[in-house]
Amino acid sequence: MQTHPSDLYRKLPQVGELLHRSDFLRLQQTYSRELVAEALRSTLQELRGEINAGRHTEDSLDLELQSLSTKVAHSLRHATRPSLRPVLNATGVILQTNLGRAPLSEAAIQRIAEVARGYSNLEFDLESGERSRRDLHVERLIINVIALKSGQSPSDLAHKSAVVVNNCAAANFLALNTLAEGGEVLVSRGELVEIGGGFRVPDILRKSGAILREVGTTNRTRLSDYAAAITPQTRLILRVHRSNFRMEGFTERPALEELLDLGNRALLPVFEDQGTGCIVDLAEAGIHDESSWIQSASSDLALVACSGDKLLAGPQCGILVGSKPHLDRIRANPLFRALRVDKLTYAALEATLLAYLTATEETLPAIAMLRMPAEAIRARCVAMAERLRSTSAAMEVVETRSVVGGGTTPGASLASFAVALLPSHISETVFAANMRHLDPPVVVRIHEGRVLLDLRTIPPAEDALLTQLLRQALEPEQP
Ligand SMILES: *Cc1c(COP(=O)(O)O)cnc(C)c1O
Repeated sequence: MQTHPSDLYRKLPQVGELLHRSDFLRLQQTYSRELVAEALRSTLQELRGEINAGRHTEDSLDLELQSLSTKVAHSLRHATRPSLRPVLNATGVILQTNLGRAPLSEAAIQRIAEVARGYSNLEFDLESGERSRRDLHVERLIINVIALKSGQSPSDLAHKSAVVVNNCAAANFLALNTLAEGGEVLVSRGELVEIGGGFRVPDILRKSGAILREVGTTNRTRLSDYAAAITPQTRLILRVHRSNFRMEGFTERPALEELLDLGNRALLPVFEDQGTGCIVDLAEAGIHDESSWIQSASSDLALVACSGDKLLAGPQCGILVGSKPHLDRIRANPLFRALRVDKLTYAALEATLLAYLTATEETLPAIAMLRMPAEAIRARCVAMAERLRSTSAAMEVVETRSVVGGGTTPGASLASFAVALLPSHISETVFAANMRHLDPPVVVRIHEGRVLLDLRTIPPAEDALLTQLLRQALEPEQP
C-alpha cells in the first residue's frame, strides 16, 4: 500500500534534535557544529525531494535514515577535502603543465618546510644586521651553476647578474617593459609563437608597452631582415625559443652569434626567451638539438629568460640572467616588486640549483624520470602486471613513447613501456574516470581502446600504491 507523502515527511527528524544524537555529537568533534548542521540540512532536503518525487516507501525511507550519519560523514569529508590534491601521473608526460609540471626533490621539499616553519633572513643581512634584498639569495648560485656547466670560472661571469620572478611569462613581460617600453622590438615572424596556457609572444609584447616590429617571413628570416628593420626607435632584438613546435624544410634563421654581432654593431641589446631552462645534456636521453639554457646564459646575450619548472626541474618561477646594467634597470622597475616570488620559491630553487652544483641532478624527480632506462621501466611494468594477474582485466606490457612535455622538445620522445589494461566489466573511458576518483587520483592515457599506464612518470617508490589503487578500481564494487 502506498504511504501518503505527508506521513513520510513526518518521519524526517529535526536538525536540532539530530545534533544531540551521539553519532552526530561524534562528528562535531571533527567538524564544527555549523558545518554538521549544514550537511544535515542539505541531506534532509535531498530526502524531502526524493519523497516529493514519489521515490520512497516507509521501508526505503527507514533504511535511508538508518544510514544518515554515514551519509553526512561522507558529505562532510567531501566538503572539507582540499581542492588541490596530489595525483599519480601515469601518462608518461614528464612536465605535464596540467599536472603541475616538475615534482620537487626531497631536498627542495625539506628546504621549503624549514623556511616555511619560522622566520628567515629573506630580506635581512645576517652580517651587518641591516635590511637586505631577497633577490640576492640565489643570484650567486645561478651564476655558479652557469659557470660550472659552461666550463668557465665564476669570475669569467662576474659581469652577469640574475633575478627570479613568478614565471617565464613574467620574466618576458618584465624584460620587455624595462628595456623596450615605448620603443620597437624586432622579432622574426617565425618566432611569434604561442607557448600554451595563453602565452603569446605578440600579446605579452604589446602589454609590455613595446611596439612589435615583425621581420622576415614565417619560415625564413635572414640577418639582413633584422638589419633593415633597425630604426632610431628600435630598442631590442628578441629571439624566442620555438619551444613547442618544430619547423622543417625550407627554413632559415641567423645563428645566435650573428644576431649578437648585429646587436653589438647597432648598440642594441639582444634578449632571448630560452624557455626550458635546460641544464642537463638531453643527448644522453636520445633527444638532440634541444636548446641549452647554459649555452644561452653564458653567451653575450644581454638577457635570457627561462622557466624554473620545466627542464630545470625546480619550482614554478622565471629566471632572468644577463649583464649587470640591464639587471639593475630590471630591479629598479616597480613591476619587479609586483612579480617577485616568495621565500618558499627561493628555498626550493636554491635546493634545486645546488643539485646541479653537487652533481646530484638524479635527485630531481624530473631528471631521474628523463634518464630512467626503458628496460628498468619494462621490469617495473612486468612486476606490476604480475601482481594484478588475479584481477578481471586483460593485461599486457607494451612498448610506448614518453614525452618531456611542458612545451619542450617538440617531436622528440623517449622509448618506454606501459601496462596496457582492458577492463572486462566496464569501458576504458569509464575505467579512466574511475581512476580519477580514487584517493589519490590516477591520471592515465587511453590508446587504441586500452588504458595505458606509462611508469616513467610514476616514482618507483609508488609502484606498490598504484598497484593497490588499480586493484581497487578493477574489482567490481561491493554492494
Ligand atoms: C614555457 C615557455 C614560456 C612560459 O613559461 P612559464 O614559466 O610557463 O610562464 C615562455 N617562453 C618559452 C619559450 C617557453 O618555453
